[in-house]
Amino acid sequence: NWILRQLTEAPAGLRITGYTEQEVMKMGLLDRIHPDDQRSAMQNLTGALEEPGKLAHVEFRFHKKNDEWCTLESFGTFIGGPSKPMLIFNSRDITDRNQAQDTITHMAYHDALTGLPNRLLFADRLDIALAQARRSGEKVSILGIDLDRFKIINDSLGHSAGDELLVAAGNRLEKIVREGNTVARIGGDEFVVLIAGTESADDGLVVAQRIVEAFRLPFQLSAGSFYATASVGLAVYPDDVDDAESLLRTADIAMYAAKEAGRDTFRHYTAAMHDREANWLELEAELRRAINENELVVYYQPQISIGDGSIVGVEALVRWNHPTRGLVAPMEFIPLAEEIGVIVPLGAFVLRQACEDAVQWQKDGLPPVRLAVNISHRQFSDQYFIESVRRIIKTAGLEPSLLELEITETAALRNVERTRAVAIDLAEMGVRLSIDDFGAGSTSLRYLQDFPITTLKIDRSFITGINNNASNSAIATSVIALGHQLNLNIIAEGVETQEDLDFLASRDCDEYQGFFSSRPVPNTQIRELLAKKRVATKTAA
Ligand code: C2E
Ligand code: CA
Ligand code: CA
Repeated sequence: NWILRQLTEAPAGLRITGYTEQEVMKMGLLDRIHPDDQRSAMQNLTGALEEPGKLAHVEFRFHKKNDEWCTLESFGTFIGGPSKPMLIFNSRDITDRNQAQDTITHMAYHDALTGLPNRLLFADRLDIALAQARRSGEKVSILGIDLDRFKIINDSLGHSAGDELLVAAGNRLEKIVREGNTVARIGGDEFVVLIAGTESADDGLVVAQRIVEAFRLPFQLSAGSFYATASVGLAVYPDDVDDAESLLRTADIAMYAAKEAGRDTFRHYTAAMHDREANWLELEAELRRAINENELVVYYQPQISIGDGSIVGVEALVRWNHPTRGLVAPMEFIPLAEEIGVIVPLGAFVLRQACEDAVQWQKDGLPPVRLAVNISHRQFSDQYFIESVRRIIKTAGLEPSLLELEITETAALRNVERTRAVAIDLAEMGVRLSIDDFGAGSTSLRYLQDFPITTLKIDRSFITGINNNASNSAIATSVIALGHQLNLNIIAEGVETQEDLDFLASRDCDEYQGFFSSRPVPNTQIRELLAKKRVATKTAA
């Protein structure tokens, strides 16, 4: 106490703290020092006392008379002999300097938008967590989180909406993750969660599950309420990898696997994913090349009238004829094409090729059939989309009413206003619009009923094996009935057996597509089928 009294008794000390000399004499000064700083202040000062000539340097927060805290920096020198010890202090107020320092440190370690720890601080905490886990034998889980619809929301609603979404997403994550664990934003729409010191990898799984569920609820932004589900990848030390850098990379790989699995889900890392990741990087470079080198091929799958068994349309389905991998299925590269932004030229290529083929069929005297072409949500929201469709069908010379564009239910509902506008433009051009994979999303037809759509395609997950699944058959039955009330043409996808087809016939479904009649086939083969006008199967009675 003696030391401290000296410390603040000096005139400078008095001025800073606001106390009078009398007050200082009476009060317990130690109590005015911030509890966290008391120990170190005492240690440093008594240290100096024991060693004459040594300069004691102390910094501590001090409670001022006006109830504010200031930070004092004091240098104490021990003078005088053993009979009369004396310390001389030189103190100054460094509150401002410390605050500036704090701000700079905060900025260096935090993301300005969300206030969450940034990549740097996250790396720090991860290092500490790993060091502890090495000693204790506990586990450290890393969750990589990516918002599934961030780009779309950011692109279509503007950056301020995007920013709002990121802040809201950060808040949501912090609510889920227990205190002591870290939520950080490490880039664009990428967040990571660090769960340290757990006994089992299940802890990470539980949090991953909770995050996915929490992100299914809409976000309230100023522009309205929006859905942005999350894809989450989990990597665990020491089960999966054993250093910080690989842990992050591994969580990232698992996150991409979750995206590939259809988004809105989580995946725990497996070694097989790693090979896939290597594959993807290679594929990316190759895909950009493939479009220019004409390696993409359009296949066609017939659409059959259930009433008379004739081919009434074909769906264009793209394949990649890869020089070494052979024929690559679209699910292997369409999501990638969307991710890296080449879906727009790729989609335009498919549309152009399909239109040219269809015009050629007619020129060669084959019966005219409807041509269905898949459109990705990225194309749909592209500002030149309508223009591009108009130009392509005009150049090819295709009758617009023969063209039907397919957009998935999920894509159609991403931005209802955009969908409505595009649907109206297409209708004016005379082009048909079909809602693909219907039922796979979570919407009711109500949202779609006032759009000028022409066709509803029931998702094949409801159709294949429909007789053995009561809930699927109930859903399909009501979709057909409801669609008919809205005057829509109903196509069932994924018909693999006579039983599937018989069921649909009994419910008055209009058309079907599926392996039962034909797989998607190359141009030469679809021409043969068109020439016969039907496929070689029995139709329903
Ligand atoms: P989709 O639009 O739902 O196309 C139907 C998919 O179901 C096709 O797969 C088709 O081969 C498959 N299929 C048809 N009948 C049956 C059946 O009876 N049983 C089973 N199990 N499957 C059946 P594919 O050709 O592999 O295409 C997969 C997806 O890739 C398509 O799903 C579509 O979303 C996308 N895709 C294909 N071509 C394009 C394209 O040119 N542009 C865009 N954006 N996406 C495309
Ligand atoms: Ca389709
Ligand atoms: Ca489909």
